[in-house]
This record gives sequence, C-alpha cells and structure tokens, in this order.
Amino acid sequence: MFKLPRGTTDFTPEEMEKRRYVEEKMASTFKSFGYREIQTPTFETLELFTAKSGDSIIDEIYAFSDKGGRALALRPELTAPVIRFYIDKLQMEPKPLKLYYFGNCFRYDRPQKGRYREFQQAGCEIIGADTPEAYAELIAMAYNILKNVGLKNIKLNIGNLNIIDSMFTKIGLSKKDKKKLLPLIDKSQFEDVLSLLRDLDVPKDNAEKIIDVLQTSDIIKVKDFIKEDQSVKDELSNMEEIVDLLKNSFNVKDYQIKMSIVRGLDYYKGLVFELDASVLGAEKQLCGGGAYDLVKLFGGTDVSTAGFAIGFDRAILALEAEKFAFPSFKTDVYVIPVNEEMLVKSTEIAQNLRKEGILTDLDILRRGVGKSLKYANSKNAEKAIIIGPKDLEKDSVTLRDMKTGEQELVKIANILSKLKNN
Ligand code: AMP
Repeated sequence: MFKLPRGTTDFTPEEMEKRRYVEEKMASTFKSFGYREIQTPTFETLELFTAKSGDSIIDEIYAFSDKGGRALALRPELTAPVIRFYIDKLQMEPKPLKLYYFGNCFRYDRPQKGRYREFQQAGCEIIGADTPEAYAELIAMAYNILKNVGLKNIKLNIGNLNIIDSMFTKIGLSKKDKKKLLPLIDKSQFEDVLSLLRDLDVPKDNAEKIIDVLQTSDIIKVKDFIKEDQSVKDELSNMEEIVDLLKNSFNVKDYQIKMSIVRGLDYYKGLVFELDASVLGAEKQLCGGGAYDLVKLFGGTDVSTAGFAIGFDRAILALEAEKFAFPSFKTDVYVIPVNEEMLVKSTEIAQNLRKEGILTDLDILRRGVGKSLKYANSKNAEKAIIIGPKDLEKDSVTLRDMKTGEQELVKIANILSKLKNN
C-alpha cells in the first residue's frame, strides 16, 4: 500500500466537480473586471524566490537540484513567477495590464486543516496602475469573487504598510528593529510588541499609542498619530479615498481598517488587505494582497504592481462549512441496450445525443436492464433509454423517467425534442 506524501490530497470526482464549479465562478469574475488568464511553470529557478524573500525561504519550500545540477524550486506562490514572466515578455503590453491565474503551490508547511504542502491559489496582478480607484477595484474584485462563489460570511481588513513604517520611523526605530516587530504584529501579539518597544527604549506613551493605532479600526486615530508627516498624509488620504469608493461605488460595506496587517513579507508596500472566512478556525484567511515592489528588483523597468492570492482549498472548505449547496452531479440520459444485437443502434443514439451536448452514458458491460437501471441511479441519471428489438421495429425506444419510473414509447426521431422539452 502506497501512501500519499504528507500534506498532499487526492480529489474525488465529487470534490473535483465542486472545485471546477468554484474555479469557473472565480474565472468569470476575474474576466468581468477585464483580467486575462496566464500560466507559468510549476517549478522555477530557486533564485527567483530567494531574490524575493531571502535565503531563509529555502527552509519553507521544496528546493532541489535537477540532474543537470540546476538549483530549482516548486513554486510556493505565483507573484514572483508572474513578475518574471512580465519582465521577460509582457513589458510592452498596454497598461494597466490585468492578469489572473490558477496554480498549485508548494510549501514545506506543517500540515493541518486548511494548510497543506500542495495547495491551489487563484490570484491576479495588476501592473501599471496605482490610483485609489485601481486599488479599490482590486479589493472589490477579491471581495466579489468570494461572494460570487457563494460565500456569505467574509470579513475584509485593510491596512497600509507605509503608514506603519512611518509610525515606527517617527518614534526612532531602525530597519532592523522594525524587522523584529513585524512578525509579532502579524500574529497580533501586542503584549510582545509592547515589551519589545520597551526594550528598544521607546517612551511608554508613544509605545501605547502605537499599540492603540495597531488595534484600531478608526482612521481618525491613525490620522491623529501621524498629523504632520506629509508623505504619509497623502497615503492616508488615498486610503480614505479607497475606502469611500469601496463603500459608495462598489457597495462593499463590511470592511474594517486594521493597521496590524503586515502580511509577513517585506516586499509589500503601501496598501495591504486580507479577507477572512469567520467559519474557518485558525486557518481562516482566504485571501491576502496589496501593493508591492518586485519589478525593479527582478531587473525590469519600475512600474506599480499590486495583486492578491486566494487560497482556493480554503474557499472550498469555507463553502462547505457554510453548507453551500453545490450543484450536484447528474447524467442526463443512460442508454441501455437490452441485448448485444441492440449495441450498434444504442451507440448510434448515444453518440447523437452527445453531439447535442446531452450528458449521455451507455451500458458497456452488457449487463441487462435491471442492473443497468441500478447503475443509472447511482450515476444520478434523469432518464434512461431502453432499446429493445420490438420497439426498434417501430423505430422507437422506451424512455424512462428515473425519478417516477414512468415509461413511454418515443420515436427515435423525436428523442431529442422530447428530452429538451422536459
Ligand atoms: P500568501 O501567498 O501566503 O499570501 O497566501 C495566500 C492565500 O493562500 C492565503 O490567504 C491562504 O488562503 C492560502 N494559503 C497559504 N498557505 C497555504 C497552505 N499551506 N495551504 C493552503 N492554503 C494556503
């Protein structure tokens, strides 16, 4: 007996139907906002990810050498690959460039519910737009995607890293100090933030104010703290504009300002946001995104970039937890030849129905009517067509409604119209 590698999953036909349903809904929302799909390889050069996140990322990903001695990695996320692709082939495209993708990602995480070693992301990047309306649209799209797949309870949190950064600069913290603080803030460990600020000799009232701002959902408090700092003032008024647009134009009302969102990664800048599904426990974050800087770092011509990634598997978990009624699998018609002589005609009828887009299955085990009807039931068939010699003499077949058990004789020429009118 072979076992699955830790943190990976097999998906049953039922699960795949759910996944394809959700994928289609997500794709159609991306497209409705003018985004177009791209695909990049499952593995990349290791350097692509270390350039972005530093060597420490090697411990968290699947990094390996191939037979030619090349250092490679299974992608842990898709933003770096998409930006690599953009710089290589898409820099001349008209801006803004709106790209979306679905892809499997691999992380050497400790597996638990909602956290796997291979998982799927649905994400997008917008390149060449940094107006409040671009960011509001991006956030609204993430929100709409989750709503359109059928999720009821999602929470949107919006923060801004530049504002956090200048708050720390204002109280005299160095880059190194900030790096120590960010993981604590990311995990909402405010007691630890406070004691670290104390260790860094930040005056008590300033430290307390910082904690207050990090925990606030009130933009006024943030404003109060950064009063005279002009660069952040602009950032703050952009944030207010984004929020206004979300509320008034995109009808996204259930959001919160949350200055403690730091996204754990240091290539983000400015706007950051997250969407959570309250029904999920610890691993409730469905989506994370924001504005970031990578193009210049990767050798391209500097341009604004922003995007988000949705944890596809978690979106499915959240839908299941909310008891979402996924469309159920069905077979339109199950065709049953009563004996071997009927096979040719039965196949011909099945093929004609398939050509018309009717989901048609056919008994290929020569197992007779009784057993075939049982199997048809297990495949959720709505109708069965039973083809026997006597009916055939009259150019007819027996059409059976699988729910009621009612049967009627139907001319072969009329099968299609009969099925379509039902
Ligand atoms: P990130 O690229 O870390 O911002 O992740 C984006 C989204 O992917 C998160 O909000 C999660 O929903 C999902 N995600 C991240 N890591 C995992 C994982 N190991 N297993 C399943 N989903 C994940």
